[in-house]
Amino acid sequence: MLNITVIREQAKAYQQAANSKKISISIEELLEVDDRRRGLLQLTETLRAERNRRSKAIEQLMLEGRKEEAAPLKLETSELLQQLKQAEAQYRQTMFRYEDLMLRVPNLTSADTPLGAGDEDNVEIRRLGDIPDFATFTPQSHVEIGQRLGMVDFARGVKIGGTRQYVLANYGLQLHRAVQQLALDMLMDKGYELMDVPVMVKEETLVSSGYFPANRDQTFGIQGEDKWLIGTSEVPLISFYSGELVDLAKPKRLGAVSPCYRSEVGSAGRDVQGLYRVHQFAKVEQVVLCEADLSLALSLLEHMTATSEELLQLLELPYRVVAVCAGDMSQKNYKQYDIETWMPSRGSYGETHSASLLLDFQARRSNIRYLDQNGKPQFAYTLNNTMVATPRILIPLLENHQRQDGSVYIPPVLRPYMRGLSELR
Ligand code: AMP
Repeated sequence: MLNITVIREQAKAYQQAANSKKISISIEELLEVDDRRRGLLQLTETLRAERNRRSKAIEQLMLEGRKEEAAPLKLETSELLQQLKQAEAQYRQTMFRYEDLMLRVPNLTSADTPLGAGDEDNVEIRRLGDIPDFATFTPQSHVEIGQRLGMVDFARGVKIGGTRQYVLANYGLQLHRAVQQLALDMLMDKGYELMDVPVMVKEETLVSSGYFPANRDQTFGIQGEDKWLIGTSEVPLISFYSGELVDLAKPKRLGAVSPCYRSEVGSAGRDVQGLYRVHQFAKVEQVVLCEADLSLALSLLEHMTATSEELLQLLELPYRVVAVCAGDMSQKNYKQYDIETWMPSRGSYGETHSASLLLDFQARRSNIRYLDQNGKPQFAYTLNNTMVATPRILIPLLENHQRQDGSVYIPPVLRPYMRGLSELR
């Protein structure tokens, strides 16, 4: 959890961050609860000390056979025990409220984070690649292309799994796997340690990685078990080092591929067609842990974003990078870039990647520390980034690379993963 002393010192800034991130919390109430909690802690400690003192005195009197003197002391002590019980119960209750509020306090945002209410206020930083000009034919959507080429079956997906489900087949499956393997190979070449991680995790893991309680309604749980399905492998990757003292002389670069599950509560009616917003997808994710050095962390954020851009350039897709505004940021993020790739059927750029710096927000909850130059333990800084998320990336791949004759061009970088195919038809 964040540091209450720092929250107290910068109460205004934390309240402002909560307001801009649309998190309903009163920092003033938190500070009051904290005062109450401290007061009750002190009271219980004082009462406990007094109880111990009296118990010893009674014991001594009894040993000395001074029963009549011990009797009134016993009576007073039983009253004190009542007070202690009451104070302990009040402390537990206050502590519960305190922890609940502390888990909801947002991270501050960087000074250069744009102000704004939602994604419409994100600020474009750069734009690369040419948007295709389908002057000579009417382009099809990925739904039409995918169905025509037998790559995706929405009707049977829904029949099997309900809304926002799909079946990828043949070229669809090949392409889905190809982008994941390409992303993994690129990360391996860059020295990332790659993992296959649990996708069912404990509640505690979601709390310590900063996903619960904020994202609880986005998360599918397993009935009757303390097990939840991850929405991103960031959760197990961060938790890999939870409770550990880590050597961060060099930043730790971790990568994983996993299925991701999201309830998409709150997006009812949005993007119901096609592969944009589904309940299950696959993602190759990067997580980096580094020392608590802001300039190092900021350069790592740029670096991670550049890695995703490199992948998009290899896929020959037009994209733009945006600085995400406070209103579009999650509780845990300090600074965030999204990459949006051109999606002809939407007539706009659609989010395909997200890179975030969290400072020590996750490391505090997860208790991930390293020893600084003076041998003192410090909380690490953490970052995460989408290397590729699929099937969403199939939307720009199929739509931007479609040709007049109905075929789809496969960029050379994917061909080794597609049994040499240079086009789909
Ligand atoms: P996030 O972890 O929310 O930043 O998402 C990372 C990336 O995962 C997004 O940029 C999308 O490419 C992809 N993604 C997130 N949610 C969904 C979804 N419901 N369906 C398909 N892809 C998604």
